[in-house]
Amino acid sequence: MEILYTNTRDASEKVTASRAILNGLANNGGLYVPTEIPKLDIPVEELAGMSYQETAYAVMSRFLTDFTEEELKTCIERAYDSKFDTPEIAPLTYAGGAYYLELFHGPTIAFKDMALSILPHLLITAARKNQVKNDIVILTATSGDTGKAALAGFADVEGTKIVVFYPKDGVSPIQEKQMVTQKGENTCVVGIHGNFDQAQTGVKQMFSDPELKAELDAAGYQFSSANSINIGRLVPQIVYYVYAYAKMFANGEIGKDDPINVVVPTGNFGNILAAFYAKNMGLPIAKLICASNENKVLYDFFSTGVYDRNREFILTSSPSMDILISSNLERLIYWIAGADAEKNAELMRELSAGGKYTVTPQMREKLADFYGNYTSEEETAEVIRSLYGDTGYVIDTHTAVAAGVYRKYKAETGDMTKTVIASTASPFKFTRSVMDAIDRKYDGMGDFELADELSKIANVKVPQAIDEIRSAAVRHTTVCEPEEMPQAVKAFLQIG
Ligand SMILES: *Cc1c(COP(=O)(O)O)cnc(C)c1O
Repeated sequence: MEILYTNTRDASEKVTASRAILNGLANNGGLYVPTEIPKLDIPVEELAGMSYQETAYAVMSRFLTDFTEEELKTCIERAYDSKFDTPEIAPLTYAGGAYYLELFHGPTIAFKDMALSILPHLLITAARKNQVKNDIVILTATSGDTGKAALAGFADVEGTKIVVFYPKDGVSPIQEKQMVTQKGENTCVVGIHGNFDQAQTGVKQMFSDPELKAELDAAGYQFSSANSINIGRLVPQIVYYVYAYAKMFANGEIGKDDPINVVVPTGNFGNILAAFYAKNMGLPIAKLICASNENKVLYDFFSTGVYDRNREFILTSSPSMDILISSNLERLIYWIAGADAEKNAELMRELSAGGKYTVTPQMREKLADFYGNYTSEEETAEVIRSLYGDTGYVIDTHTAVAAGVYRKYKAETGDMTKTVIASTASPFKFTRSVMDAIDRKYDGMGDFELADELSKIANVKVPQAIDEIRSAAVRHTTVCEPEEMPQAVKAFLQIG
């Protein structure tokens, strides 16, 4: 069965999977969504025996139907290899009453590697399939983790260039160091005097700027996106939910068809949307628990049906979730509107004009599987401290937001369903906040000293991603205003 992709703001547009990946974002600012969610028609007994790579093929081949078996398997092999520090790729760890699905064993130690290690291969394959002659220029806005994972994925990939914009004062010291030391002649990293939303808006504007598009085309370039608005990011993220479920079954933690809950620390709504798609493929997920930090626009949305980004932007210790415009929520809005592109487009117009929209009562009813909550900065720190104190397991700040929300959910509902928490970053990526949460005595230490301390107390080796930036030279120093983003791109491409 062929799956096509339609535009959330224009029902008349339908494209193949490879075209959707290549375009990234649709011309009118809409997102590509599958016209239908394929069924996961493989018994769990069979899934239980599969490697990560085999699971990836089973899931992705059902979505990316215009890729040949050989093409897709090659992409998967190149992505999920020894770049990951464990052959399991995404191991499950039980601690303190929940299963942590560790999505941070890739080259940049955050969950973005799960999709960004395969996206470059999908994109190059898609370009070949569609006879694209231009070089692909990846434009990416990052709240810290996507940028490095995309840079690592695309560095020195022939036929591509990548430009990453990050909020100069909105990422952790380790995150910034990881990005500005990136090697590869085709890479460009730019700090902006602004926040993530401004970076993301700037990128979206460049995508829908016809003049810029023409200028690029004349110079032999075209844009694509490595952000989770690209369906090529989302599909690989469905895989690990299926994999986790199958592992729990294989380990005897659950029986056949037993439901599980998933808790996802959420920013741009990509990761949790992937869990939602997994559920709609038929994976027995009961509740989708959406965890926010103090930028709790999603919690408010789930509790009131009103999405309102008009509020203060708070810098927290979980910077990858400091987001007020969760781009992928549009895909869910489109879904609960009953695949009504016009209704969705109307709400998105309201969002860009007044920063706010309200869904209808009928649409709200379709959100019953979601539960939203948030944690304060103090609660997040307390979760890290107490989980470490009780079990010796150290989690990062983003994962702690999820664990804190899960505690609230259990206290409120008494629901004892086995639960998987998406563990989205290694604590080594956010050592300062993590170590501060555990004990104030670490206050005066430097970032790398802290990593060594963490290694001792958690009894975990310092990841290679940290070791390699200890002495790496800074290669990227450009900083600009949000309005100057197009000029920065043109300067890098030497056009205009
Ligand atoms: C990106 C990121 C998130 C948020 O994921 P979304 O898919 O944007 O909701 C959470 N935690 C970490 C560590 C991240 O890098």
